Amino acid sequence: MLTIATATAAFLAPPTAVRTRTMTPVMAEVVEMDAAVLDRYMSLPHSGKVQAEYIFIDADGDVRSKCRTVDSDKATVDQLPSWNYDGSSTEQAPGQDSEVIIKPRAVFLDPFRPGENILVLTDTYTPGGTPLPTNSRAPAVEAFKGTDEKPWFGLEQEYTLFNIDKITPLGWPAGGYPGPQGPYYCGAGADRSYGRAISEAHYKACLFAGLEIAGTNAEVMPGQWEYQIGPCVGIDAGDQMMISRYILKRVCEDFGVHVTLDPKPMPGDWNGAGCHTNFSTEKMRKAGGLAEIELAIKKLGAKHQEHIEAYGEGNERRLTGKYETADINTFSYGVANRGCSIRIPRQTDTDGCGYLEDRRPSSNCDPYIVTAKVFNTCTDPDGVVGDFTRTDVEQVA
Ligand code: ADP
Ligand code: MN
Ligand code: MN
Ligand code: MN
Repeated sequence: MLTIATATAAFLAPPTAVRTRTMTPVMAEVVEMDAAVLDRYMSLPHSGKVQAEYIFIDADGDVRSKCRTVDSDKATVDQLPSWNYDGSSTEQAPGQDSEVIIKPRAVFLDPFRPGENILVLTDTYTPGGTPLPTNSRAPAVEAFKGTDEKPWFGLEQEYTLFNIDKITPLGWPAGGYPGPQGPYYCGAGADRSYGRAISEAHYKACLFAGLEIAGTNAEVMPGQWEYQIGPCVGIDAGDQMMISRYILKRVCEDFGVHVTLDPKPMPGDWNGAGCHTNFSTEKMRKAGGLAEIELAIKKLGAKHQEHIEAYGEGNERRLTGKYETADINTFSYGVANRGCSIRIPRQTDTDGCGYLEDRRPSSNCDPYIVTAKVFNTCTDPDGVVGDFTRTDVEQVA
């Protein structure tokens, strides 16, 4: 059975458990439909035309979409038409001048409508052609424009699955707690792995779409998972992350499961959810690159507070200095140290070149803002170099 649920709360918002009563939208309706019946229609062939699902980003950084038919021979990013949506329904435009213009930026295969049908990533503009204030992609494109640094990003997206009540994480007893963390990370077995079907379906769907999905694993808190996008070059990292989040939401919709990117969905002795941002430039990847990496890290340290402010809502609930995080107010870095703000991977230290891992961004971060900011700070020739020393104490992770 395919379960289609009408969700009312935002993807990026805290789950019901950590929101105040007055803000809590009550999740009620669940409509069940027969997936086998739907398949009869989904497999009907059509020629000369494809369905183009235009994906756009709303005022909360959440992904939404609408579909239109286009000629097969015009289904490329250069030929696809701009379109619009009702911005008064997304709090991105006033009712009397409600159109938000969306411009196609990247095209992927649509895993939900197999065949030649496509997902179209767009960004948002006023009718006058100005990027909306919520269009963080436009400044990110500017940041990467003309660079010869060849910036690579690998983004580790963690997420948490909840029953449709938005209160109980998948696999948790209603109103209670599972056994303490330990067996769940990369765990196998019905007593420790909850939601693998979603992780698997999402992985395959991302591969079908053509995303650079690097892998996936079960996380430390039961019901929590991770996948990685990358390495991707420049703006492509943000684009692919947004599409992968859209695919995640659609897969979860099919399974009747609620997914949240909240950075600390369960308060207490449970790991939060981050979006570790792995970054390198060509100089860092070449022999002797470690010196460049440490220089970049010290520039990141000098702008710690500014970065924290750009790294996602609610991150202060996650960056406590416990559960493989560094304290939000203290910058630190070290080799293989998961209690640091920035980790230098062991292999990078051994090879003398490679990449750095910024562990601070939260799972609900805006990947355009984060990638552009990491790039700008690390490659700024005039950037202030902070006075920090390595703390290489290895921690069990
Ligand atoms: P962790 O050990 O922190 O769990 P993961 O394996 O989950 O790391 O993720 C590492 C990510 O970094 C992957 O997406 C990988 O493709 C990416 N990556 C690998 N090499 C580089 C590099 N040189 N620059 C940027 N990203 C990289
Ligand atoms: Mn990882
Ligand atoms: Mn992880
Ligand atoms: Mn990591």
